Amino acid sequence: MKIGKYELYPVNSGFFSLDGGAMFGVIPRPLWEKTNPPDSRNRIRLATRCLLLKSPSGNILIDNGMGNKSDEKAKDIYNIDQDEFSLEKSLAGIGLHKDDITAVILTHLHFDHCGGSTEYEKGRIVPSFKNAKYYVSRKNYDWAVMASERDRASYIKDNFVPLAEEGLITFLNGNTFDDGIELIEMNGHTFGMNLVKISDSSGTLLYCADLLPCRAHIPLPYIMGYDLQPLVTLEEKKNILAAAADEGWILFFEHDPATPAARAARTEKGFKADELTEIV
Ligand SMILES: [Zn+2]
Repeated sequence: MKIGKYELYPVNSGFFSLDGGAMFGVIPRPLWEKTNPPDSRNRIRLATRCLLLKSPSGNILIDNGMGNKSDEKAKDIYNIDQDEFSLEKSLAGIGLHKDDITAVILTHLHFDHCGGSTEYEKGRIVPSFKNAKYYVSRKNYDWAVMASERDRASYIKDNFVPLAEEGLITFLNGNTFDDGIELIEMNGHTFGMNLVKISDSSGTLLYCADLLPCRAHIPLPYIMGYDLQPLVTLEEKKNILAAAADEGWILFFEHDPATPAARAARTEKGFKADELTEIV
């Protein structure tokens, strides 16, 4: 798929699992288990689907998944599965290596979005993308380094503090990133999460990050229990889904295990997923 000067490629960096109840907040299990069946530990399978924007001036990667620094305990808790899909394998599938990435946009610093930013090299933590600048909002970084007792387990400092210490992070303030790329700040899930909107005169694709992690999160009450301000998420969903439905945006799902993208449609009560969309 091409939008403006960018060729777009989904990059699945692997699968993991999280508690199904936590992923759907107040929605009872009999409803969410129809679309997202849980395993024996009540976990549902999730993708870590990044997006690559390839252009003559460089290769921009949006988010980078769990990475490969997890220990055995974390691999068990989160059921991390990078056998078939990993960042390296998926990049290789489109003829790229991590060294070809020139910019990494991090929607936010939760470990399942930025874990691939750093890796171990001879026992030291080093940047995974040696030729890239990293971008994240100042607001989210400031929260990540001193998150609350409720959400600090979601922020693992080895994923981002070493980058800041080496001066590799450009802190984002505002909405413009590059021609055709706009950032939209969200504050319900965490503070200072950026959605990435890629547009040209013929259409728009929105990288939904954790505002709409899966297709099943399109109906308005389907809000994650992890969200710090669920009523703020609700208003953010209304605004984004209204624009998406009215203007025909493609919604790109980072965590849906099966559906990379869909469009949204209005219903009497809110919104539903409409046609599914292949990103090819
Ligand atoms: Zn998150």
